[in-house]
Amino acid sequence: MGARDPIADLRRIAFLLERANEATYRVRAFRSAATALAGLPAAEVAERAGNGTLTDLAGVGDVTARCVAESLAGEEPVYLRRLVATEGSDLDAEATALRAALKGDCHTHSDWSDGGSPIEEMALAAVELGHEYMVLTDHSPRLTVARGLTAARLRRQLDHVAQVNAALPEGFRILTGIEVDILADGSLDQDEELLARLDVVVGSVHSGLKDDRAKMTRRMLTAVANPHLDILGHVTGRMVSSRPAGVTGPGDKGHRARTRAESDFDADAVFAACAEHDTAVEINSRPERQDPPKRLIRRALEAGCRFAIDTDAHAPGQLDWQRFGCERAALCGVPAERVVNTWSAEQLLEWTRDRA
Ligand SMILES: [Zn+2]
Ligand SMILES: [Zn+2]
Repeated sequence: MGARDPIADLRRIAFLLERANEATYRVRAFRSAATALAGLPAAEVAERAGNGTLTDLAGVGDVTARCVAESLAGEEPVYLRRLVATEGSDLDAEATALRAALKGDCHTHSDWSDGGSPIEEMALAAVELGHEYMVLTDHSPRLTVARGLTAARLRRQLDHVAQVNAALPEGFRILTGIEVDILADGSLDQDEELLARLDVVVGSVHSGLKDDRAKMTRRMLTAVANPHLDILGHVTGRMVSSRPAGVTGPGDKGHRARTRAESDFDADAVFAACAEHDTAVEINSRPERQDPPKRLIRRALEAGCRFAIDTDAHAPGQLDWQRFGCERAALCGVPAERVVNTWSAEQLLEWTRDRA
């Protein structure tokens, strides 16, 4: 296969990003890389692509260097391919189709931890939305501000869920679960025996969000490799905005409006581990989180990860927020077959059982 023109590919990517009204800094990354390479002899570009020293050049980062290497290998860069695949398509229709394909929600809270409503009310709202299942994922013990459940309370909750399930309409069920804290050393904040017993385990970082890059990466890699962890929750921990009007209220104590930077970690290493261990990456639909950001969703997609598009609802009305996550997933070209909650409850359980 003949080499493509890497500079033309970088410029094409920048153009498509601009047209899609993407953030200026992302566009600039591709334009500066194109400029940096345009000043060099083609042979040097090829040599640097070969020995991995493109990123030594000012203006060339990991993502742009990968695009150049792919171009020189005669392949349309994956980044460009994704942009082209979603350009001109009706994103609205794609997001709608993705939302329609979702059969459940894998991240929800009740008033057993920091949610505002009883489990029954959350479940009835999920039934009305047309879901086949809702995974109940209240917090774990160390998250005391969110009234995290001790092992004893979680056991009581499991008995309670069994009773609630018996009274719910046929064709719908609450699946048991937890949003377990990923502790400083990467271990999970609940008894092993309980984690093994739960249907679905979502794991999230809620403390030490400013850990340095090496420590945060180790912490996340350890968690992702844990066979009990099924879904990695709100990956960067960022808070992008205060909440839109009308969505504040009781039951949101753990998600107070404020902005917060992304945690620093080696995203490529973490997503590679997610792909290796078949741990799904959550696309968190909460408007103030929008986590992971789109550039990381694209990288997780390229890494081969599965996703879960979840609401992290703390109140029944918030169960309808999946639309927001679907819009972001559609913008990044995430196909429905990569999303675990497009599966039936049985398929989902088969997947989580196989994993632990
Ligand atoms: Zn959380
Ligand atoms: Zn949560």
